[in-house]
Amino acid sequence: MAETSRIADFRNMPVDERRTAVADVLGTDVDLFSQVNSDSFGPDDAANLSENVFGVFSLPLGVATNFTINGTDVLVPMATEEASVIAAASNAARIARPQGGFSTSSTEPVMQAQIQLINVADPHAARTRILERQAEIIDLANDQDPKLVEVGGGVKGLEVRLVEARTATYVLVHLLVDVRDAMGANAVNTMAEAVSGTVAAIAEGDALLRILTNKADRRLSRARAVFDRDLLGGDEVIDNILHAYELAAADPYRAATHNKGIMNGISAVVLATGNDTRAVEAGAHSHAVVDGRYSSLSTFEKNADGDLVGTLEMPIPVGLVGGATRVHPAARAALQIAEVSTAQDLAEMVVAAGLAQNLAALRVLATEGVQRGHMSLHAKNLAASAGATAEETTIIVNRLIEEKAFRFDRVQSILDELRSGGSQ
Ligand code: NAD
Repeated sequence: MAETSRIADFRNMPVDERRTAVADVLGTDVDLFSQVNSDSFGPDDAANLSENVFGVFSLPLGVATNFTINGTDVLVPMATEEASVIAAASNAARIARPQGGFSTSSTEPVMQAQIQLINVADPHAARTRILERQAEIIDLANDQDPKLVEVGGGVKGLEVRLVEARTATYVLVHLLVDVRDAMGANAVNTMAEAVSGTVAAIAEGDALLRILTNKADRRLSRARAVFDRDLLGGDEVIDNILHAYELAAADPYRAATHNKGIMNGISAVVLATGNDTRAVEAGAHSHAVVDGRYSSLSTFEKNADGDLVGTLEMPIPVGLVGGATRVHPAARAALQIAEVSTAQDLAEMVVAAGLAQNLAALRVLATEGVQRGHMSLHAKNLAASAGATAEETTIIVNRLIEEKAFRFDRVQSILDELRSGGSQ
């Protein structure tokens, strides 16, 4: 457990001091950070993860501070290229602190594999025949992954659905698999492939697709937090946040951006820990459709005391084993920083980060607008893309903020002026 997730002046520290501060609150050695140095994962390591590799692509890796989850202080590792995301999560976590931080929970980590059966003459009867023999099918699936069964996972159920498509009625067999600390895609795909012949024979048809569904709606994680009225800025801010939320709940155009804000937090933790961002994102898209309409993934209300309460429930299929989680050194370091011991713990941290990010974005939108906070980093970005040195960048950023002119041509002209020794 982190001694505290509040680290004074963390944002203003140089990188090596930040490393020491994180190591101190975790009670660990600063050596942990050798895993996140640029030479810890080279092209040869990368070639074990992907194909046609000629290099590696680095991203900022940081921690969000101020988080308390279920009464315990934690540091939340986040990898993102987007300015303001980590600061916003930390700020929202600070606003949740007076009321106890984030409360989280989750279902068992159940993923589903689908087997599509085609050319079935009697789909209804085939469904019943498959259900009659489910114990045999489940045993066969479990035989594929003794390790998973040994750690308490394995197939927990079997369902058969009939899906009316344009030209046929497909029989879909779902294996419901508790994947424990894995994300589980490979594990359930292997099972689906292994049982497909038997299932097709029972159905008297042919098996075609055998793959997991990313609509991981049996693997949900939930977060809830009460955001302090005074720290938020008072009743009017809360009322405006509620208007912003209600628009997202009612309007898909707004909901897409509202949910993108949630995913800023979610994907950053998923990526930092070496997990599959696309799998979590696909699960989020499918979960955001309620009664056929795309809507907000989160909810916001005012509680009886007039504070703002936010909730977020969504599929978070992430693991501590498999994929890049154990192979990528930065992911290993991030998991150590997160101090999670099960995939469910990690999923709950991810969903708390999503809720924090969501609240932070709503608060800014409902008050000053997003551009102000972005300006100084945006100015830094512009200066960097013009090739400014650190010293030149400081001068350029100050000048752009002063002039409120965040344009590349202006950066270029200030840079030219600095380099020619002139002033204007
Ligand atoms: P995996 O197969 O590498 O690891 C899971 C295996 O680890 C289990 O099958 C089990 O045998 C073993 N294991 C050991 N200890 C365990 C524990 N405590 N809990 C659970 N299992 C334990 O990986 P995976 O999680 O099955 O698959 C994840 C990978 O699949 C990711 O890289 C993902 O990108 C990829 N993938 C995703 C999709 C998709 O989302 N559509 C499709 C294909 C592959």
